[in-house]
This record gives sequence, C-alpha cells and structure tokens, in this order.
Amino acid sequence: MYFDVTIIGAGVVGLSIAKFCSENGLSVVVLEKDTRAGEGISSRNSGVIHAGIYYPHKSLKTQFCLQGNKALYEYANLKKINHKKIGKYIIASDQSEIDKLDQIYNQGILNAVSLERVTKKEMKSLYPDLLVEAAIFSPNTGIIDVPELISALEGDIQHNNGLVSFNTAFVSARKTKNGFEISCNDGNEFLMETKYLVNASGLHSDEISKKIDVLKKDFFYPIKYAKGHYFKYGGTHPFTSLVYPLSNEFSSGLHVGFDLSGQIRFGPDITWVDEIDYLFDESLKDDFIKSIRRYWPNIDPSKLSPDYVGIRPKIQKMNEKMKDFSIIGYKGHGVHGLINIQGIESPGLTSCLPIGKYVFEMIKY
Ligand SMILES: Cc1cc2nc3c(=O)[nH]c(=O)nc-3n(C[C@H](O)[C@H](O)[C@H](O)COP(=O)(O)OP(=O)(O)OC[C@H]3O[C@@H](n4cnc5c(N)ncnc54)[C@H](O)[C@@H]3O)c2cc1C
Repeated sequence: MYFDVTIIGAGVVGLSIAKFCSENGLSVVVLEKDTRAGEGISSRNSGVIHAGIYYPHKSLKTQFCLQGNKALYEYANLKKINHKKIGKYIIASDQSEIDKLDQIYNQGILNAVSLERVTKKEMKSLYPDLLVEAAIFSPNTGIIDVPELISALEGDIQHNNGLVSFNTAFVSARKTKNGFEISCNDGNEFLMETKYLVNASGLHSDEISKKIDVLKKDFFYPIKYAKGHYFKYGGTHPFTSLVYPLSNEFSSGLHVGFDLSGQIRFGPDITWVDEIDYLFDESLKDDFIKSIRRYWPNIDPSKLSPDYVGIRPKIQKMNEKMKDFSIIGYKGHGVHGLINIQGIESPGLTSCLPIGKYVFEMIKY
C-alpha cells in the first residue's frame, strides 16, 4: 500500500492538510485512531473564529489567525456551514485593568485587526447589567459549527479521492530511501509506504514523535496538558455578543461563549493536569461564580451547570511565556519528507485552513 502523503490525526488540522494535498493531485491517507474525525481537541473548544488580536505581530499564530478568519468565513459561506459573525467585547471591569486593555488594543492594531474602542457610557447603554469601565469591540470575531466544518473538510477529501481511515492507529515509522515505512493497527498490524509523513496528532504529538525512528528528541516538545472547563447557563442573560473579561490575579477571565443555537456558556478556565482525561471538576463552580460576578453581578448560580472540558496541547510549561505554533520540516529537524506539528492550541481552529495550505507548500518544495 502506498500514498504520497500520510497524515496522522483527523482533527481540523490533519483534515485541512489532507484537503490541500488531495486537491493538488497527491494521493493522501489520514490515519485516525478513533471511530470519527475531530473527536480530540477539535470538538472540545469554544468554536470561536478569532480575529488575531492577542498574539505577537510576527508569529505564526497571528499570520494564520488573520488569514484563517477570512478564509473560514469564505469556506463557511461556500459550504453552507452554520456560522455567525457576532462580534466580541473585551472588557475591563475596573480601573486597574485599563492599561492591560490598552496593551491589547495596541497589539490588535499592530496586527492590523479591525477594532473599535467602546466607552463606559456606551457599554452601559448596551449592557446595563454589566460592570464595565472600558471595552474594545472586535466586529470580525464569530462562531462556527465545528462538526459541520469537519464534515465539509471530509467531503472535500473524499471528493479528491483522498482517504480518511478510521479505527487506524499509527504505531511507528521507519525512514527508507524514498520516504517512510509505516506500521499501523486497525485491529491487525499492517505496513504501508509513504513519501511524506505529517504528524498532526494534537495531544499525542510527542508520543508519535518518539515512534518516528529518525526524529531526534531535541526536535520535538513534550506536551503539557492544560484542561479547560465550560459551564453552561440556563437562565435569561443580557449577552448578544461574545464577552471576554481580562484575566488578573483575582480571576481567570472566564469568557461568555455561545453555540449556534444561542446557548451560552462560561469558560474555559485553566487547570494543568498530568494525563488526558475529560472528567469534569464540579467543585470549580464557586470559582466560576466569583469570577463571573466581577462583571455580571446578577448571575443566578442555580442556572449554571457543567457542560464539557477541553485540553490544550501546550508546548510551554506552566508559567512559561506563550510559545508559537510549532511546524517543523526538513530545515528544522533534517529529516526529508517529515513535517512535525505541535502546540496547535487556540487559535488553531480559526487557523486550520492556512495551516493546511502552509504544510502543503512545505511538502511541495
Ligand atoms: C479549551 C479549548 C478552547 C479552544 N477554543 C478555540 C477557539 O474558540 N477558536 C480557535 O480558533 N481555536 C480554539 N482552540 C484550539 C483548537 O481547538 C485546536 O487548535 C484544534 O482543534 C487542534 O486540532 P488538531 O487537528 O491539531 O488536533 P485534534 O483535533 O486533537 O486532532 C488530532 C487527532 O489525532 C488523532 N490521533 C492521536 N494519536 C493517533 C494515533 N496514534 N494514530 C492515529 N490518530 C491519532 C486523535 O484521535 C485526534 O483525532 C481551543 C482549544 C481548547 C483546548
């Protein structure tokens, strides 16, 4: 069995890479250990199409988020994927946060993101129930139906004769003269050959890296898991756009998010964990209430209930500065035909289409 390109992982990143490679005439297989696509990080997130405000100007996160914001709205319109450009307010709830809000505004403007400043008075007339000293509005932030996005990407791959192989775990890879010999397990172990190998396995990307015989350990990161909980809210509420308070020493800045049915939820928080588990820690409810009350004092705690958790694939340690997406090819690790992808946390969903194109370009040259 031979494919030009083998991609490990059918999350939004692996699927997008497969879409671009298959539509450019390469034979492609995506190996997915689960029964369906997108069951990892891709289905446990906020579903927000970000605008690219926060990240350093020259980073891949900014570059891909800006391109991805535009590309994802276009793709969603083309494929009739449910989405809404509902906008986002970033709010300072007291005077001590104004400097931080200004820094975020300046970073966003430097990144060429369209942003508007909103005064306390304007916020009071829009949201009389919220405590806001000043705010920034991002009109191009929105939400998207992630399962529909995943189906559209799978549809494109199938249309281009690419294959997504479920219940098929990557086991190991051995470098050969022309590419790689890959061992897989779909209940039985079998071998296949490929010219290009892409590791897009998200939370498992460090384990997978260890199974590629020629990849030295200096060229990949251990993954640290940062869990995020979401509580949903069943009562009436004043929100019509996303609202992002700032994080500070008293609060982790829990966001107000929406799904496309209008259900609101708060989160994610951040809890560092040692293993991948999706257990919900209900004891966090009091912390959530305290944090939300800083900007919405009238929240009814009885209407807040556990929703779901997601896990971020961090390549930096706790307390270390943010790291950029890591996409390493031959120039980085010296292995022909291998592209190793790690640390695709937020805004990875927004960035999936430009990441797919970028990796295809790396393969092409
Ligand atoms: C709490 C949270 C909130 C977020 N919110 C947003 C947001 O609002 N907007 C945004 O832009 N981004 C957001 N993100 C980031 C975004 O969700 C991720 O960047 C993106 O989903 C990463 O996709 P992926 O394809 O890299 O990983 P995954 O979706 O995890 O895909 C990797 C796949 O690899 C498979 N795999 C692993 N090991 C093997 C193996 N041995 N063999 C075969 N297959 C294997 C897994 O089963 C999995 O399906 C958020 C992330 C988190 C955690």
